[in-house]
Amino acid sequence: MNSPLLLMAPLYPATQQELETRYRCHRLWEAADPAQLLARIGADCRVAVTNGGRGIEAATMERLPALQLVANFGVGVDALDLNWCRAHGVAVTNTPDVLTDDVADLALALLLAAVRRIPAGDRFVREGRWLKGGMGLTPSLQGRRVGIVGLGRIGRAIAQRCLAFNTAIGYCGPRRKSDVDWHYADSVVALAQWADVLIAACPGGPGTYRLISREALQTLGPDGVFVNIARGSVVDQSALVELLLSGALGAAGLDVFDDEPQVPAELFALDKVVLQPHQGSATHHSRAAMGQLVLDNVAAWAAGRPLLTPV
Ligand code: NAP
Repeated sequence: MNSPLLLMAPLYPATQQELETRYRCHRLWEAADPAQLLARIGADCRVAVTNGGRGIEAATMERLPALQLVANFGVGVDALDLNWCRAHGVAVTNTPDVLTDDVADLALALLLAAVRRIPAGDRFVREGRWLKGGMGLTPSLQGRRVGIVGLGRIGRAIAQRCLAFNTAIGYCGPRRKSDVDWHYADSVVALAQWADVLIAACPGGPGTYRLISREALQTLGPDGVFVNIARGSVVDQSALVELLLSGALGAAGLDVFDDEPQVPAELFALDKVVLQPHQGSATHHSRAAMGQLVLDNVAAWAAGRPLLTPV
């Protein structure tokens, strides 16, 4: 491929290096004048590569009239304007499956850390407080029911792990699954009525905006636990903070937030809340595999072969 390739944001270094070795890449985020860069390469640029956080908006794509492929480094495509791509015949690829296990592992880590107060215990030891007496008891995961909002690739991997912890499994989502006999609820509130723990594993974007409402969180109640490895947009974040502060919700493990990297400071003092800086797929293992999929999709497109993971 001789035409220029637009990089929207920094990628996993090995992937970015390989793209820059293979293709004529232009880094949008480093351009002194991004509009000028787009004007310069727009007529020829057929491929843009972005990541799940940056995405690509219609205003940028409108300046790339030759664009044919947007390759997303990440499975979630809520930050890119999919409707615009579909309306303009621009193909989109993402990186499913290869990150599923790492994200599901983090969901379980957050669940256990929040329920068993692991960061608080760690601080207790480091600060020498154990020398003055024991830490006290914590809630337990045993006997709990876990409700998964979105039983897709990651949701199923979370369910498999929860089974090993002896929890009952329930889920909600647009399509009831015929291959599992877990409890199905036809709404998030109905799932919260059945469950003690809600884990968000659905996509972000307008279709799931604030899907996990104040009512759902209130329904989980003072012993309830909420885990989010999906997107900040899927939950009513102000209600979440308010209910955690008041004790109306028991605990939370959060990897994703509205307006990242901003995190509501009120959460910092709460031992029952465990926070992560959007680390779901942030392992060398997943990022290398995601990068390979991006490279393979771009190479397939350039060679006129079918895309590996079209969205
Ligand atoms: P997936 O296989 O497409 O699964 C998404 C699931 O969400 C599907 O089962 C779908 O239901 C369900 N869903 C869609 N709309 C819903 C709604 N309104 N209510 C409830 N469920 C709904 O995707 P995946 O690979 O599991 O990834 C899921 C999401 O995880 C990504 O889109 C991304 O936002 C997030 N993620 C986060 C991280 C992180 O670092 N924290 C990393 C990777 C991914 P049906 O099966 O009925 O269609």
